[in-house]
Amino acid sequence: MTDKRLHRIPDKVEFNDKHSNDFRGDVREHGFHFCGYDWDEKEEQFKVYLHYDQLYYWKYAELSKMGKGLLDKELWGTQCPKCGDKFFPPRVNCWNLDCNLEKAEWIKLKPEGYVHTFTIAGWSGKSSLKRLPFVLAYVVVDGCKTAVANELRGIDPWDAEFGMPVKVVWAPDGDRRGTITDFWFEPADGWKPGPMTPEKERMKELCKPVYEWVATLK
Ligand SMILES: [Zn+2]
Repeated sequence: MTDKRLHRIPDKVEFNDKHSNDFRGDVREHGFHFCGYDWDEKEEQFKVYLHYDQLYYWKYAELSKMGKGLLDKELWGTQCPKCGDKFFPPRVNCWNLDCNLEKAEWIKLKPEGYVHTFTIAGWSGKSSLKRLPFVLAYVVVDGCKTAVANELRGIDPWDAEFGMPVKVVWAPDGDRRGTITDFWFEPADGWKPGPMTPEKERMKELCKPVYEWVATLK
C-alpha cells in the first residue's frame, strides 16, 4: 500500500548535536526548547522539533524552502507570476482577487527592508528578559506586500522610527535552527537616529524602570 500522505513523517531525525536525543527526559522551564530539525532533500520538506512538556513539531510543508533557507542565511519569499506581488513571509497563492489564487513562485529576497510599525517590549518570555526593553518591528522586506515581525536590535528603543531602513543580521553558524529567531533586524548601515523629541523623551522615561529591573536579574 502506498503512503498517500502529502508530507511523510521521517523514519529518522537528525538532531542538532547541542541537544540530547533524550527528548522525553527532564525539561527545564526555559520555555520552548529546541530539539532539532529535519530536512528531507528528496521531498523538499523541512521540519522543526520543539519541546514544551512534550516533543512536538511543525511542518513547513509548502513553505519548506523558507525554513531551510533560514539555516543557510537565505531569505526566500514568493512572487505572483501574474501581478508581480512579492510576499515575505511567503504565501503559497497570490492574495489578489484578480489573480484567482495563482500559485506564487519562490524568489530569493535581498536581506533589507524598512520598518512599517514597531512596539517597545517591556516584558517578555523568560529567555528574553535580560535583553528588555527591546523593539519588536513589522518590517517590509525587499519590496514585499506583507510584513514580517522580528526584533530590531542595535538601537536605543526610543530611537526607532516608522519607515527607517533596516538590514537582516543572521545568528552565528551553529546557532540557526530554521526558525524566525535565526535572524533579526538592525538599522541599515549609515542610518542615524533623528533628534530627540518630546515623544522620544517620554519613551526613554518609560524604559528607565525596565533597565533598572533588568539590572537586578542574575
Ligand atoms: Zn497576483
